[in-house]
Amino acid sequence: MAEIVRERPDFYDKYICTGNSTCFDVCCNAWVIPMDKRAADLYNEYPGETGEYLRKNIYHNEKNEWFIRLHEDGRCPFLTEDDLCGVRLKAGEDAQILICDVYPRERDIKAGYYRLDTLMLSCCEVGRIFYKETGDRLKFIRTTESNDEPEISPELKERTDRLLAFRDGMVEAIENGSFDRNLFEVRESTDTIKGILEDTIYFENNGRSEEVFANLRKLLPESGDLINDLLRDVPELKKWLRKTAAYFAHRNLLDSFQDGSVEGPLLSVFRSIHVLLLICLSIYKEKGSFDVEDMIESVHIFGNIYIISMHNISLLKEVRNRSKDSDYVLNENSEMRPYLYP
Ligand code: SF4
Ligand code: SF4
Repeated sequence: MAEIVRERPDFYDKYICTGNSTCFDVCCNAWVIPMDKRAADLYNEYPGETGEYLRKNIYHNEKNEWFIRLHEDGRCPFLTEDDLCGVRLKAGEDAQILICDVYPRERDIKAGYYRLDTLMLSCCEVGRIFYKETGDRLKFIRTTESNDEPEISPELKERTDRLLAFRDGMVEAIENGSFDRNLFEVRESTDTIKGILEDTIYFENNGRSEEVFANLRKLLPESGDLINDLLRDVPELKKWLRKTAAYFAHRNLLDSFQDGSVEGPLLSVFRSIHVLLLICLSIYKEKGSFDVEDMIESVHIFGNIYIISMHNISLLKEVRNRSKDSDYVLNENSEMRPYLYP
């Protein structure tokens, strides 16, 4: 029997899908819908007419990542006229794509004796609760439980302790503003962000994101000054972004568990905020104002491009050329150690 520490954000149980009633971008409609490998293999081998129906409505990109082929109006082709899921109706619950089953929850993210259950900010309702109904600092609830797995070794226990102490320290430091320079000085990482935007895979039928990203690319060369104006004109933006960065760090730093390397996960936090800040800027320039609803939409657009593709996720955490990449210059004098354990 192993003792497990489980953690979840304190708003985890508040979330209920609001679907067509208030959600501004219902998941079965106008979302890029990525498939897990198990579902892609199943659909590609599924026999008979149902197999043809499943295959006709999916496609893959050059990285062999599979997606549902949305209708031109953005509607999922499996959605019936009665708004029911055609995959479930024709091929049963087991054929359901993983993300349709669990989204926006991410459950059981594992690091040693620790498990995180969390919610993705790309969901419009999660975003609404996160920015409008919770305080400036994150709060998590920890519980302990036993499971049937064998007890982990003292060495892995020590790793878990170290990782959680480091992760929680980073979250607090980000919330306190100690990493504001890394978060808000986009000017210094413009070349990196330009490279990331160029290498990003964008998706079909994703009109709003296309619009925002097209505008964002035009703004990029002068983004340093424009972002300073935005941060001055919308004083709450720093608070929202700090909290977002802390939330991302809380999740992403768990990826350091395997090899103890914190660089990639930390870069992914800073770069995510830079791309997010540019999305905010794009919306601000389009509207001439920016409020909390725009923040919710910005993080939704960010998630709709960057958390659904493994390729795009890896661009954010990729360790590029150290001598040229200004992200490293920012970290030079920090006490941060690139590796948590030898
Ligand atoms: S985005 Fe969230 S609230 Fe909207 S339909 Fe999807 S799961 Fe429900
Ligand atoms: S496959 Fe089913 S649950 Fe998933 S988006 Fe399409 S209709 Fe909705």
